[in-house]
Amino acid sequence: MQLLEHEAKSLAAAVGLPVPDGRVAGDPAEAEHIARELGGRVVVKAQVPAGGRGKAGGVRTADGPAQAAAAAAELLGRPIGRHVPTSVLVERHVPHVREVYVAVTVDARARSAALLLGAHGGVDVEDDPSGISAVPVPVATGLRPWHVRNAAHEQPDLPAPLVERLVPVAEAAYRLFAERRAVLVELNPVLVTETGEVTAADVRVVPEDGLTAPAADDPSAQAAREHGFDFVTLDPAASVGLVSTGAGGSLLLVDLLADAGAPPINFCDIRSGGMRGSTDRLVCVLRELRRFERLSCLAVNVFAGITDITEFTRLLVRTVELEPPTVPLIVRVEGNGAEEARRLLDAAGLSYVRSLAELVDAVAATGRNESAA
Ligand code: GDP
Ligand code: MN
Repeated sequence: MQLLEHEAKSLAAAVGLPVPDGRVAGDPAEAEHIARELGGRVVVKAQVPAGGRGKAGGVRTADGPAQAAAAAAELLGRPIGRHVPTSVLVERHVPHVREVYVAVTVDARARSAALLLGAHGGVDVEDDPSGISAVPVPVATGLRPWHVRNAAHEQPDLPAPLVERLVPVAEAAYRLFAERRAVLVELNPVLVTETGEVTAADVRVVPEDGLTAPAADDPSAQAAREHGFDFVTLDPAASVGLVSTGAGGSLLLVDLLADAGAPPINFCDIRSGGMRGSTDRLVCVLRELRRFERLSCLAVNVFAGITDITEFTRLLVRTVELEPPTVPLIVRVEGNGAEEARRLLDAAGLSYVRSLAELVDAVAATGRNESAA
């Protein structure tokens, strides 16, 4: 789904982003060799296509070649979440005084890109993204310095000189985002040294193609493609089925659910704007999700920014009548006409939550009840 860190860093370096010196190693001897070439302290990082490595013990510092070899030996083959690393990245350690967060992603509501900026980056942002500010970046202008300064207005902990240092960093991140047609380019952390230099210590690139090109052996993705939307099976052994719209928002929800301990079976961008009064897409998703043995809950999160959410809600109600779900349904509908949409849900006897946080909590609670049962 996302590129490996070292692949993402090569792309980042090519658009002018500062990244630490380093190379990828497939075994401890190679890691030792790279550490010797770099000299001094190094960081040894498991290469898996997922975030959260820091917290999972996948990032080690080593004081020299021998320690680097030992770190590589420990990391290689040891699973991080669902992924087993077959390589490590060995990089020069960058002494720093702070970590900040910079990302460019898709803003489905504004039909544009968005710049995300946080004065405090690092591993904790993944648990609590509330301190990050977002500003839309219109495709017409691309990312301009004022977008960075506007985002920084809501970040009083970012000194002005640092904001100016982050301008070219954000601009380069946007170039990468646009060139790769990515749904997310995330620099977290950007390390800031004592003298104010900035370096992207971690780069995540999630290309749109990686999301929309269904695996050849994913029948659900093929069924979805026939209906004109995107469905990617992420974890067939998971228990939460997802119905959502918009690549960026859907991806965010995948991450939030995973962080809450309830990773979903699938990524879904149902493209609610293109449903055109037909329940076909919803019926298709529900039928596909029913194929997963451990399905125990369905999460529906649809935000209609341009169309009217009542349209989608009517289709949802009709779909539930046609194909009554066999597991709890947790619904959040938001956007134009949300109050009317909620009345429709009430009338149909469907319960709903009002915020993304509530949705995530409700899904996680259902997951826990299932495992306790
Ligand atoms: P993630 O948890 O998968 O996002 O992994 P990261 O690459 O972001 O690493 C987690 C944490 O390790 C970062 O927040 C930093 O504190 C630290 N870290 C990672 N890479 C470097 C590096 O090259 N130099 C230094 N000094 N610290 C690093
Ligand atoms: Mn990171």
